[in-house]
Amino acid sequence: MLITIQNNFHGSSTKLNIKVDGKVSLSQERRAKKAICGVGGCQCGGIYGPHAEVEGMPGAYFAERFDRSGRKVGASIIPVT
Ligand SMILES: [Zn+2]
Repeated sequence: MLITIQNNFHGSSTKLNIKVDGKVSLSQERRAKKAICGVGGCQCGGIYGPHAEVEGMPGAYFAERFDRSGRKVGASIIPVT
């Protein structure tokens, strides 16, 4: 599914084509972070911060995903149910 992430701190947005289960790959996560906030040391939180939202999914937020050894493998969109 195609989603649009917006950051209302920077007024930036980017689109991602992700799986229906809401999982975002590591490369997509990196690309989205750069598009949403490329500012080093910025306190907005990028896609994980309070200023990020997924269009059409009010309240949904991003969480980092790790494998069993603790290595980051991407992110997930957590919808508010
Ligand atoms: Zn920022």
